[in-house]
Amino acid sequence: MKTSGISWTVTCVESTESKSWPSSGVSRSGSVRQREGRTAKLRFLLARGRRGQKAGRIMKCLRVRVVGAVLVMLLGRPLPAADQPCWKAGTARANITPSQPLWMAGFGSRTKPAEGKEMDLWIKALALEDARGHRAIILSGDVLGFPQSIYQHTCAALKEKFALEPDQVLLAASHTHCGPVLRNALYDVYPLDAAQIGMIEKYSEDLEVKMVEVVGKAIARAGARAVGGWTRRRRVRR
Ligand SMILES: [Zn+2]
Repeated sequence: MKTSGISWTVTCVESTESKSWPSSGVSRSGSVRQREGRTAKLRFLLARGRRGQKAGRIMKCLRVRVVGAVLVMLLGRPLPAADQPCWKAGTARANITPSQPLWMAGFGSRTKPAEGKEMDLWIKALALEDARGHRAIILSGDVLGFPQSIYQHTCAALKEKFALEPDQVLLAASHTHCGPVLRNALYDVYPLDAAQIGMIEKYSEDLEVKMVEVVGKAIARAGARAVGGWTRRRRVRR
């Protein structure tokens, strides 16, 4: 674009908009025009850069203030009084890594049982109790799935020991293919001999015992910890 003096047109990278800068000169040589043009362009880009940095600082400052305000809102809420009814929560876990070489459930390409340990397998329980004393248990385990017999035996034991009905218990399997074959599950997939089936039965029984134990520990810990008191106690200890 050209007026009585010199002007330059630059396409902005971010917005593709065009800008012009008329200069005050009237009659100049080509090299002078070019030099002044470059200077004007440089000034423009520097000004844009400074504006961009300033805008970035403002946005950063705003973000910090917004996050700070949200934290103040969340952490500044009054904590429930000790005698005020609130939810309780407790957790517990147990190591369920097999001590013997069992076949790995659903690991289709394997031709032999496990030969070692890469990492541990766990059964974990979360016990929740609402302000009116209603309880619920979430049991998660590093297994392919929970066979029906393990579910039924565990629910029966939880009802007997803790008066928990099956609809208060949720089992969740991590569906790992590195966990062991369990009782009466996928027996037709592997060449299991009597010794292997014996080990699977024993492991499944031990797993049921550990599932009930971790629920008991989680319930005991829930009794000592109210959810509303987390900010005081920092976190629920396992
Ligand atoms: Zn799978």
